Amino acid sequence: MRRLRNVKIVATLGPASSDYDTIRKLFEAGADVFRLNMSHGSHDEIAARHKIIRQLEEDTGRPIAILADLQGPKLRCGTFANDSEELTEGQAFRFDLDDAPGDATRVLLPHKEIFDALEPGSRLLVNDGKICLRVDDCGRDFANCTVTVGGTISNRKGVNVPDVVLPLAALSEKDRADLEFVCELGVDWLALSFVQRARDVNEARELSRGRASILSKIEKPAAVKAFQEILDASDGIMVARGDLGVELPVQNVPPIQKRLTRACRRAAKPVIVATQMLESMIESPMPTRAEVSDVATAIYEGADAVMLSAESAAGQYPIEAVTTMHNVAIEVENDPTYRDVIDASRGADKTSVADGIVSAAREIAETADIKAIACFTDSGTTALLVARERPHVPIIAMTHRIGTARKLCLTWGCYCVMSDELTRFKQAVVRAVRAATEEGFATADDQIVVTAGVPFNKPGTTNILRVAPCDVKEIFAAEPE
Ligand code: ATP
Ligand code: MG
Ligand code: MG
Repeated sequence: MRRLRNVKIVATLGPASSDYDTIRKLFEAGADVFRLNMSHGSHDEIAARHKIIRQLEEDTGRPIAILADLQGPKLRCGTFANDSEELTEGQAFRFDLDDAPGDATRVLLPHKEIFDALEPGSRLLVNDGKICLRVDDCGRDFANCTVTVGGTISNRKGVNVPDVVLPLAALSEKDRADLEFVCELGVDWLALSFVQRARDVNEARELSRGRASILSKIEKPAAVKAFQEILDASDGIMVARGDLGVELPVQNVPPIQKRLTRACRRAAKPVIVATQMLESMIESPMPTRAEVSDVATAIYEGADAVMLSAESAAGQYPIEAVTTMHNVAIEVENDPTYRDVIDASRGADKTSVADGIVSAAREIAETADIKAIACFTDSGTTALLVARERPHVPIIAMTHRIGTARKLCLTWGCYCVMSDELTRFKQAVVRAVRAATEEGFATADDQIVVTAGVPFNKPGTTNILRVAPCDVKEIFAAEPE
């Protein structure tokens, strides 16, 4: 099940993708990570999708990552009697605290603090900014607005109030309950929405108690400002362009995307570029040229993963959307310009033995005819360092921890293979060449590079590199032990 590309694909699951067959087709089309959005769907639905993914993992024998996305202090409207309503420019529309189902004239906005902060003239933006309303008149439990840009509003769409600073806690009661629920279920990544400072990340890390890696969604101007401290506190980053492009002028998003992507590579932490990548494919089997170009740009910039939101969760063509991303990725990664750009943006400081080893592994692979770099990794750190080098040969991440294998599904180029717990380096070399030949990366006549840390029971010590022949007999002939 080799993908023949390095960038990873994250697919959000939803009503259009909740049965075993569809999720399996998404995986076969190229999805490496499945995202469960805690903003939509009950705990029972989340648990059902989780179970299907773990079943699929067992059936295919390939590790698959699950990312649970916590809603965070995202403002959302309530639901509608008819699920959705059409808003037209110039019409009046009211948000209030009445939890009766919405209609063409009003809907619930269940956030008391918004009404306290709104003023006549404030803008309300709905569904990643697609619909705009201006507040004409407001009180403690209502806001009467005029629609300035129309569109379809539907159940639980996000609402942004960019002109107003709202006093919001990073994790709501719902987020805490969701966090505990998904951690007990067993997810690999927890995504935090609307992070504003490192403290928000640390709070989630304490609550998760090591049960999942933490990914911060950058979608607030404050998070862009405090990005370095947030990156330091996180295990990964999502450039959440939907809300970011509403909270900031849209033209600010591309330079921020570039800067964040580079900073993440320097820090050897995975970064996802997300939202509206193939938006038109919600309703059309063909993407626009601009969307294809957007996916390609994220890959040229060196993103670890590109993501589908509504395209795979609620669209009509979820499989086609994954296939499109997959095909774009293959084309970009085979373009010599891609290599030039990726090589030119290498350049993180080397501060440890492991940094030196992985960089040497990459250089050897460039110098000699090497088919793959196999790295033994416990927590996943060494694999992240190899991925940061963006070698031109495949990375085989060998680990005995399923949690590490799953988590690395989000990282550029990492192909994970489960290994038993080892005690000797020679055993490791044998395991690595077996994996390389069995998984189709090399034949018995080829060579690979193997890195590991010895002694094996001491984590965090990558200190050995070997260029190994893929013929197991040769390995045994070469050394007695
Ligand atoms: P976020 O800010 O976390 O991305 P979102 O509302 O934009 O939240 P996405 O996961 O990006 O949600 O999906 C985009 C749209 O797809 C949603 O607004 C919703 O209409 C639909 N959708 C996604 N997942 C589900 C789901 N599980 N159930 C129902 N609708 C969903
Ligand atoms: Mg968002
Ligand atoms: Mg979204």
